[in-house]
Amino acid sequence: MTRKVAIYGKGGIGKSTTQQNTAAAMAYFFGKKVLIHGCDPKADCTRLILGGKAQETVMDTLRELGEEAVTVDRVVKVGFCGIKCVESGGPEPGVGCAGRGVITAINMMEELGAYSPDLDFIFFDVLGDVVCGGFAMPVREGKAGEIYIVASGEMMALYAANNICRGMVKYAEQSGVRLGGIICNSRNVDGERELLEEFCRKIGTQMIHFLPRDNIVQKAEFNRQTVVQFDPQCRQAQEYKELARKIIENDMFVIPKPMTMDEMEALVVKYGLLE
Ligand code: ADP
Ligand code: MG
Repeated sequence: MTRKVAIYGKGGIGKSTTQQNTAAAMAYFFGKKVLIHGCDPKADCTRLILGGKAQETVMDTLRELGEEAVTVDRVVKVGFCGIKCVESGGPEPGVGCAGRGVITAINMMEELGAYSPDLDFIFFDVLGDVVCGGFAMPVREGKAGEIYIVASGEMMALYAANNICRGMVKYAEQSGVRLGGIICNSRNVDGERELLEEFCRKIGTQMIHFLPRDNIVQKAEFNRQTVVQFDPQCRQAQEYKELARKIIENDMFVIPKPMTMDEMEALVVKYGLLE
């Protein structure tokens, strides 16, 4: 069965980097068949896998060429290690709702059979400061079965993570979606690991992995590659391999218990977080 995984987190936290490296590790080290569906209107969720190959987004194709032009051949591109990539794209700037594009694109991919049953994993890379409208869709309608939230030891990242959990609680019963864990993408903040561990305990989940910050991520990105492709033996690639293994073997899936604002404030004070 295909596991459908949505990656959420505050903008800039490292969702796309983490998601592409994890997908690459799953394919390269574990032989998994993976599809990435980018749901960020920026349409930058798959470029490290495609290595600069031009990508036509679902919404651009739909708008410019019409519905018949949206075919699997046109919008699904194959990159590193056979990983399939599709980008929802966004609405015309200033016109229309970005979230709507996510809904349209996911529905079209389902109808076209792009989410084929031979896939082991589908990753949805979703803009997640606010779990509202279309961005909540993978959660709300059970398009994704499991969620991982990328966070760090910074106040805004934790607020966003907590908000995403609040959104999940609303829909978890009806859609069956569950939280698989928090991925700490380190910002080298003092006490970060302890803070994230305490946050995870409070909301009833696990910190599934602590990813160090490493400049090789930028070096690989400069070459339009994941670290896994750029240097599979390096330390950071092994970290992504470890995260991939933990997700493959994960059996802790929960409906989170978000923190109250007072509890968040107390955590912020305890760890001396500034913003
Ligand atoms: P998001 O998708 O959440 O908006 P990105 O994945 O685009 O965030 O990450 C933003 C930037 O952070 C990227 O350009 C990447 O170079 C950098 N980055 C992400 N994770 C790491 C890491 N573990 N080490 C070093 N740099 C990182
Ligand atoms: Mg991104």
